[in-house]
Amino acid sequence: MNHRLTTQNGAPIADDQNSLSAGARGGLMLQDWQLIEKLAHFNRERIPERVVHAKGSGAYGTFTLNKDLSDYTIADHFQGVGKQTEVFLRFSTVGGEAGSADAERDPRGFAVRFYTANGNHDVVGNNTPVFFLRDGIKFPDFIHTQKRNPQTNLKDPQAMWDFWSLTPEALHQITILMSDRGIPANYRTMNGYGSHTFSLWNANGERFWVKFHFKTKQGIKNLSNEQADVIKGIDPDHAQRDLFGAIEDGDFPKWSVNVQIMPEADADSYHLNPFDLTKVWPHKDYPLIEIGELELNRNPENYFNEVEQAAFAPSNLVPGVGASPDKMLQARLFAYADAQRHRVGTNYNQLPVNCPHASKPQHYQPAGAMAGTGCPFHGADADRGSSVNYGPNSQQGPAQSPTMAEPPLRIDGDMARFDKTVEDDYQQAGDLFRMMNPEQQQQLFDTIAGTLSQASAEVQQRMLGHFAEADSAYAAGIEQAIAKLK
Ligand code: NDP
Repeated sequence: MNHRLTTQNGAPIADDQNSLSAGARGGLMLQDWQLIEKLAHFNRERIPERVVHAKGSGAYGTFTLNKDLSDYTIADHFQGVGKQTEVFLRFSTVGGEAGSADAERDPRGFAVRFYTANGNHDVVGNNTPVFFLRDGIKFPDFIHTQKRNPQTNLKDPQAMWDFWSLTPEALHQITILMSDRGIPANYRTMNGYGSHTFSLWNANGERFWVKFHFKTKQGIKNLSNEQADVIKGIDPDHAQRDLFGAIEDGDFPKWSVNVQIMPEADADSYHLNPFDLTKVWPHKDYPLIEIGELELNRNPENYFNEVEQAAFAPSNLVPGVGASPDKMLQARLFAYADAQRHRVGTNYNQLPVNCPHASKPQHYQPAGAMAGTGCPFHGADADRGSSVNYGPNSQQGPAQSPTMAEPPLRIDGDMARFDKTVEDDYQQAGDLFRMMNPEQQQQLFDTIAGTLSQASAEVQQRMLGHFAEADSAYAAGIEQAIAKLK
């Protein structure tokens, strides 16, 4: 009896192999609600795929703190050496559709959720420490150039390079993307970065700016263009296979977790804008401080439930961790939770992968589609169906935690749309180029030439001007590589 097949209303099914028909050969009966339920549900088995980061892989694990950060933050997962916090990590490519190949040259998403005792903290980053843009207002246009041409429905090197040639702030990230690290061998052999500047604040109300770095303990391994082309054909899901298989075999991937910390006041005098997502903080200015280890050790039971419906948002912050004035981060604080409400549904935070595992959600927003699921980690208690749904109230409803208030942030200046040209776009792209050995530089030239040569002469010239600003040898190498293709 335990294993009896039922319809969705729980009624036992007598025959699930033969439709109800008028005669042995006949048409089917509208009254076969069992058939209709099966077909209708099947039609609804997909949710909208993510506009970006559609193809992904995920796993659960553990973050172990090995350096107490209570001087900097009250965040629970950063208190006390040895503290362990459950995590969920989703890796992804960015531009391709849900069925695209894992071995594309593309940034990789690296989204980490810490299920802390004071709520979920999401660090929704990439495998690169910077990004193509410093202002979210450009993001939809940028992604249009990475997706398909509206007429041909093909990837469009002209659109891609046209946009980049008119957006010099992209040069640093272009240099990383086209470098030998542009196609990681799999998700285990790459670093992750929170990329944005976030803030930490401590019990004394002091604020520090922070960047998160996750350094692979498997060693950096990458694919050449030729290797990737072969893998894309043989096994488009190779990174998913690699991650799932490694965890299944008990070969748990690990990353060291590091931070760079800047006292709040330094931001005013630092020689670069520390909130500009197209720039790193050079290590010599703010060295990496290792604070712990992240290990992935458990595969999800159900891909759709736990990976497809995983709803990360940079706005998932917890007391002790805050945002920063980074304009890309500010845009993402809105855009991600909004995307999840659209993609998964209003109550996406009630699903098991999304709800706070280690802290009980208690709030006054109870209704909306699919309400009443409650967070299964808190039992019947989590579904406060009959409880008061407004605050303040005199019914002992959930109360505020004034001791966890973020310290005020001083801001000044005129409200305006500030010109991007006040920032330097070339220095750090050039620094990375100059760090590369001749073989890495040649690989960079050849990879860029491969697609830039498909853009118009005007776009090529504009791009060469940017490469020359970063380093004259950078531009010369690309020019020669393009000439070789003619
Ligand atoms: P450092 O010499 O202290 O550090 C260089 C960093 O570059 C290392 O973290 C290294 O990673 C990483 N790196 C090496 N090759 C590549 C590549 N092809 N793509 C991406 N990262 C790479 O230098 P600085 O801190 O002064 O930074 C110099 C340049 O290094 C920057 O302009 C930036 O492009 C790059 N970089 C800097 C980072 C930072 O946070 N400061 C982080 C990542 C890159 P690993 O240690 O794993 O080998």
